[in-house]
Amino acid sequence: MRLMKYCPRCDIYTLEDRCPKCGGKTVSAHPPKFSPEDKYGEYRRKAKLRDMHDRNNS
Ligand SMILES: [Zn+2]
Repeated sequence: MRLMKYCPRCDIYTLEDRCPKCGGKTVSAHPPKFSPEDKYGEYRRKAKLRDMHDRNNS
C-alpha cells in the first residue's frame, strides 16, 4: 500500500515526499488522529474521486 502525501500549501495530494508543484515538503494524508477538519478533507477527497469516476463513465 502506497501512502498518500498532502501539500497543505497547494491543497493537493501526491505520492512524493516533496510537492511537485511548489517543491515544499508534504505531510502524511493519513493522520493518526481524527479531527473535524480531517473529516472534511476525507469527504472532499472522496467527492473528487467520485467526480472523476463519473466523468470516465459518461
Ligand atoms: Zn505544494
